[in-house]
Amino acid sequence: MASFKELIRQVKSEIREVTPEEARDRAARGAVLVDVREADEWAQGNVPGSLFIPRGFLELRVEEKVPEKSREVIVYCAGGTRSAFGAKSLQELGYTKVASMAGGFARWKEAGLPIVVPKTLSAEQTQRYSRHLLVPEVGEAGQMRLLESKVLLVGAGGLGSPAALYLAAAGVGTLGLVDSDVVDLSNLQRQILHTNASVGRPKTESAEATLKALNPDVRVVRHDLRLDSSNVLDVLAPYDVIVDGCDNFTTKYLVNDAAFLMGKTNIYGSIFRFDGQASVFTPREGPCYRCLFPEPTPAEMAPSCDEAGVLGVLPGVVGLIQATEALKVLLGRGKTLVGRLLTYDALEMRFREFKVRRDPKCALCGEHPTIRTVEDLVWSCHFEAKAPEPVGAAH
Ligand SMILES: [Zn+2]
Repeated sequence: MASFKELIRQVKSEIREVTPEEARDRAARGAVLVDVREADEWAQGNVPGSLFIPRGFLELRVEEKVPEKSREVIVYCAGGTRSAFGAKSLQELGYTKVASMAGGFARWKEAGLPIVVPKTLSAEQTQRYSRHLLVPEVGEAGQMRLLESKVLLVGAGGLGSPAALYLAAAGVGTLGLVDSDVVDLSNLQRQILHTNASVGRPKTESAEATLKALNPDVRVVRHDLRLDSSNVLDVLAPYDVIVDGCDNFTTKYLVNDAAFLMGKTNIYGSIFRFDGQASVFTPREGPCYRCLFPEPTPAEMAPSCDEAGVLGVLPGVVGLIQATEALKVLLGRGKTLVGRLLTYDALEMRFREFKVRRDPKCALCGEHPTIRTVEDLVWSCHFEAKAPEPVGAAH
């Protein structure tokens, strides 16, 4: 009976070995690298683009993953021994161009060749997001994507509160919050990010504390400022999606214009007494806010922001519609509200949907745009935009 030393010498004499540099060059010409180490070794780093099939499953799975037996296959492990046995086995399965990488992943690293460390969920994250992992439309890949996503919430008030809480709970990795206000006692009827203890503190500070307490995975970026034409592009730049929960028309137009000009999806929401509405403005795919409400027209009858009032639970519904749309956009799943305006009447408990189209005459996204940069509107609460349904703004 042969000793292990004799056996490995025998196996190595029957296979071809390549150096890590050769493996790299051959991979660039179409060879596939197969990593036969165990999952914990693979997770600590591997060769970019390599296929992962642990040694124990190699014969079982290789034909499914590499169906063409004439394709060159280079097997590697940590030091070159397991891969030698793997290469021999592949030859016996009928693969015609097989090699083992001498020295394995250790020598690949020593040679300074590129490696990747795959991102995986920690044990705690696997537990925290287990109900997402059970949903095929999210799964581990979707959860990783959410953790790497950045959402900007314009306003940490009525709409921003429920949206931020649920986006943080869902594991959206970075949440930016724009708000220059401090928490007022009259906010607490609906702005559930804030508590009695935070009255008098900046809203972003209070919101950050609440969100971090809910989910330490989330990085909160505070923008303690009022958006205007001088800062809006810089503030929006790092984010994947914008959730517009602001309470005034000046900012709504500004955010709409900036998001469009930067090619970012803007998730719109608005509330007034018992009525809410929401839509999704994705540049080029559907209308923008100006397509729906082209000109801010004076409406003397419209109550001012402070006088408008709002049912405390209303922003919860609308803010969560916005959060839902944000998650769908980030995950690339489902059908969003692009091209649709959803309205909600809390008194009648009725949702309605309106088709909304891009306006070819839109000054921003139309065929002959006149708005090519962000500008500040001179505007006040005492004016109201034209709307197909009651629309307004309340904190
Ligand atoms: Zn438009």
